Amino acid sequence: MAFVLAGATLIDGNGGAPLKDAAIYVSGERINWVGGTADLPPAAQDAKQIDVSGKWLMPGIIDAHIHICYNGSDSVFTLLEKHRDDLVLEAVDICARTLAQGVTAIRDVGGEQYIEMSLRSAINRGFIRGPRMKLSGRVISMTGGHAHFIAREADGPDEMRKAAREQIKAGADLVKLMATGGSATPGQDIHASQLTVEEIAAVTEVAHMMGRHVAAHCHGTGGIRNCMLGGVDTIEHGTYLDEETADMMVANGAQLVLTLGAGNPDLESYPLSPVQQADAERRKPMIEQGVKQIRKTIALARAKGIFLGIGTDAGGNPLAPHQFAMARELELLVENDLTAMEAITIGTRNNAKVLRWDDEIGTVEAGKYADLLLLDADPLLDIRNLRQIAAVYKGGQKV
Ligand SMILES: [Zn+2]
Repeated sequence: MAFVLAGATLIDGNGGAPLKDAAIYVSGERINWVGGTADLPPAAQDAKQIDVSGKWLMPGIIDAHIHICYNGSDSVFTLLEKHRDDLVLEAVDICARTLAQGVTAIRDVGGEQYIEMSLRSAINRGFIRGPRMKLSGRVISMTGGHAHFIAREADGPDEMRKAAREQIKAGADLVKLMATGGSATPGQDIHASQLTVEEIAAVTEVAHMMGRHVAAHCHGTGGIRNCMLGGVDTIEHGTYLDEETADMMVANGAQLVLTLGAGNPDLESYPLSPVQQADAERRKPMIEQGVKQIRKTIALARAKGIFLGIGTDAGGNPLAPHQFAMARELELLVENDLTAMEAITIGTRNNAKVLRWDDEIGTVEAGKYADLLLLDADPLLDIRNLRQIAAVYKGGQKV
């Protein structure tokens, strides 16, 4: 099916000035032509014309760090006691909701029993609705490491290689390591390094040989340093980045995937369950400290010119629900002194690069998938208008 969306103000994801009275000609699942409505090519004039004047059109948002199999409201221990079928059914709903909120692609960096692989295949075959996916399979942690209760635990370079290859065998597009402690695992020190350089390098070697990239959970500075020495491609969270590790990231061309909402939960906009209240109380000092620290980290990363991506960590802890989580991430970027345009560019074009998928998604350009978000209000005027969704298109299909 071919159609034209005409008359909207276009934010194409590349960060340039918006184009007023824009038209997009979609044929099949891809964008065929983009430009001013007055310049519409003759072929497009035969297609179905849809007037979207007075609206804003942008690329579908991409979440570069999500956990689609977890609901982000139960404690992880409750989740682990659930029957697998219950997890699957809830995850099907999360996939549909994520897409309906304008997120047309995700990178899952920690799945559960490879349910996420089945979700991806069901979405690709059209059985259920959800975003496009890049998946890591199970996270790899040291014995007793961060999120060990869901991880493939491995120690020493040989076991790490085996663990990485298992994920790739199961269908992983990337490999996820836990390089430091994490706040979602009770009793852990987020500054403590949990993998040696040799263990990290063993994984990056085999992953790169098979065309996969490696993402590493890092809060502490030592973990970031180990990851840069070990050849990791994306640092997740990166909370305690310092001058030295920032320079190492630039030298390596490594990307920093910020996750702001998970360390700064939106406690006002949804009712908290007792589990969530307890978790909020337990993590309160960490959250307050984290919000201050991440402001410094963002400023440092920008001053050094580190490539930024962003993700929600939705599902990653009981205070990270799948509820306009990417809209909130981009709102928090603006709270950290980025412009709305910079935030949108990071959440679309940059994240497509984090997913190694920028040849097909992330911007509104001819040849790419027609993954589009149509808004009723101007997100450049107020970034919270990302929640004013008029329509979502994935691969040229209206959701
Ligand atoms: Zn996470």
